[in-house]
Amino acid sequence: MAGRDYMGIPREEIPWFPTIDADLCSNCGSCLDFCTNGVFVQGDTSVQVVNPYNCVVGCDACARDCPTEAISFPDKRELIQQLRQLREVYSNR
Ligand code: SF4
Ligand code: SF4
Repeated sequence: MAGRDYMGIPREEIPWFPTIDADLCSNCGSCLDFCTNGVFVQGDTSVQVVNPYNCVVGCDACARDCPTEAISFPDKRELIQQLRQLREVYSNR
């Protein structure tokens, strides 16, 4: 879903989305059922992230639901700093 903003910042500028460790993923499909935003698709041996910017900024709920801890996210403190900086950039445009 290109072209969306988050607090006036183009969503694609915000590096917040899940990463799947294919070695840990059991392909159980739980994250696919859990997230309704079309972020994931099921692959042959593991889930894949196909629409990273559909992920809700700051959400990490699927990672907590994953039985094998295969889903990771960036540090939330870094996210907050990045959002502050991006808001300054985009508020001056
Ligand atoms: S919930 Fe975890 S183990 Fe299950 S498919 Fe998703 S990433 Fe893989
Ligand atoms: S963090 Fe939330 S919005 Fe992002 S993929 Fe997981 S459940 Fe979906």
